[in-house]
Amino acid sequence: SDKKEEIEFQAETRQLLDIVTHSLYTDKEVFLRELVSNASDALEKLRHMQVSGEASGSDDIPLEIRITTDEASNTLTITDTGVGMTRDDLVSNLGTIARSGSKAFVKEMQMKESMGAENTPDPFGSGIIGKFGVGFYSGFMVADKVDVRSKPATDTEADPLVWESTGTGTYTISALDQDIRQDRGTSVVLHLRPDMAKYAEESSIETILKKYSNFVGFPIFLNGKRVNTIDAIWLHDPKDVDDEKHTAFYKYVSHMYDDPLSHIHFRMDAPIDIKALFYIPSFHQEKYGMGRMDPGVSLYCRKVLIESKSPDILPDWCRFIKGVVDSEDLPLSISREKPQDTALVTKMRRALTKKVIAHLSKMMKKETDKYKEEFYKEYSFFLKEGICQDHDSQQALSKLLYFETSKGMNGELVSMDEYVSRCPPEQKSIYYLYAPTRQLALQSPYMEVFNKNKQEVLFIYTPIDDFVMTNLGEFEGRKLKNVDSSDLDLGDLKSDEKDKESEKDGDQSTSSAANSLNQTQADELCAWFKANLSTKVGECKTTDRLSSSPAVITGNESAAYRRIMRMVETSEG
Ligand code: ADP
Ligand code: MG
Repeated sequence: SDKKEEIEFQAETRQLLDIVTHSLYTDKEVFLRELVSNASDALEKLRHMQVSGEASGSDDIPLEIRITTDEASNTLTITDTGVGMTRDDLVSNLGTIARSGSKAFVKEMQMKESMGAENTPDPFGSGIIGKFGVGFYSGFMVADKVDVRSKPATDTEADPLVWESTGTGTYTISALDQDIRQDRGTSVVLHLRPDMAKYAEESSIETILKKYSNFVGFPIFLNGKRVNTIDAIWLHDPKDVDDEKHTAFYKYVSHMYDDPLSHIHFRMDAPIDIKALFYIPSFHQEKYGMGRMDPGVSLYCRKVLIESKSPDILPDWCRFIKGVVDSEDLPLSISREKPQDTALVTKMRRALTKKVIAHLSKMMKKETDKYKEEFYKEYSFFLKEGICQDHDSQQALSKLLYFETSKGMNGELVSMDEYVSRCPPEQKSIYYLYAPTRQLALQSPYMEVFNKNKQEVLFIYTPIDDFVMTNLGEFEGRKLKNVDSSDLDLGDLKSDEKDKESEKDGDQSTSSAANSLNQTQADELCAWFKANLSTKVGECKTTDRLSSSPAVITGNESAAYRRIMRMVETSEG
């Protein structure tokens, strides 16, 4: 039909557009990177469909990006010969926010607004768009109207459509004027704002493109002239890639605009051929209330994309890592159903995970401050998740953790290795105490015997750490013991009152003061406790683990289990 459909933007999109168009953000040129990367994504998608037979590869249209500037009409056009979009694609891809970065942006924006910052001129700071990138919508930073002409690769008979918007409340979709040629793929036409006229000049576009276009895996032509040489830097010798190149490539692969915290660049031939280049961003996006991030590493075979953001080549906990893996041993279309492919990918995942852990461990030893202050603060949660879910890596990951301890100063962090190296030789277990705060941990009656014996105890303050300890069970052959367990082997503590040991195995034990009571009185007291607390206490015994507190509760089951039971009881009660 040749009718023009007018459709409203989804509310979140409207908000985003409002910020984008009115933002004082100075680094507006990022719009070009966003649009070129969309063009490149569209081409990758098509290439993939051609490899798998979903789209025909028989037409003679090359896979490329063409950019044209027109100073007379003050426009800039970015054309690709990629997958293109149907009417429904236009609605769902350009009318709603699908992109996680944009969603994170809107979340942060709403948060700031609710904090009453909406009256300041640039309430979100120029940093935020810069941090996330806002994808397609960034075109509205420089244009007061955007046209998207598209012809889908999946339906070569379809008439090309045009999506048009001024970036306010609505957009329209209609059949493209017959006079305008549109082959397979998409053209984004930016009608530049009068003050953005420089983006209609070839020289300024060329300068911007030069900065990153060599990472784009398809030829880019600017007014007919080729501007990029395709540079797969992950295939280079790691020694030949400098920081500047890394930063530029990181921004390209991650779609982020910060500088990476660290990179891992390596090659190996055994057990399989792998060239990999990984980046750790300076921050992760899950803290923005966004839910889980997608995996960030794509799989290539000799520079050809096999799978974008593969969920299989790294374990889940590594999802903060961005980058690429290239392997000559991979079939061009990898299938999760074929057992030989699965075996290959498993092998690859093991090798890559080991490399990641080795890198972190090196950073922990050689750049301890950076590791603690920048990496660990931001990513410890992911390591802990790994301990609970990735059993192959569990022990190796536990060496990357830090805890506060009873001996350290407030906030001082100690690794498990450090803890063990400070233990007296006769101590066979690693002790930890779970308390809401350091203050409460230090005052806990469970600490008495450890203080008396000058024994160090790890302090943990969150349910996640408690879960980690329970999951881990032991560290290098030493049992991890909650100080509230009833089977503390106090024999391995240098107790000066060891001869008075009277604690035996049992479910629950309470009471001290055995010293001031004779055995008969103590037995009577225990019997009285048992009789009066019969539903709550399994057993009541004397102990020498306490010196000033009258009693403690201990148990055989894990502390975590008891806490869960307590929650169940309260919710039932
Ligand atoms: P992202 O690229 O992170 O998904 P964008 O806002 O940049 O987010 O783009 C939104 C969506 O619009 C893309 O996911 C894609 O489906 C669609 N899109 C944008 N540009 C193109 C294009 N040139 N060709 C085909 N689809 C496109
Ligand atoms: Mg994009």
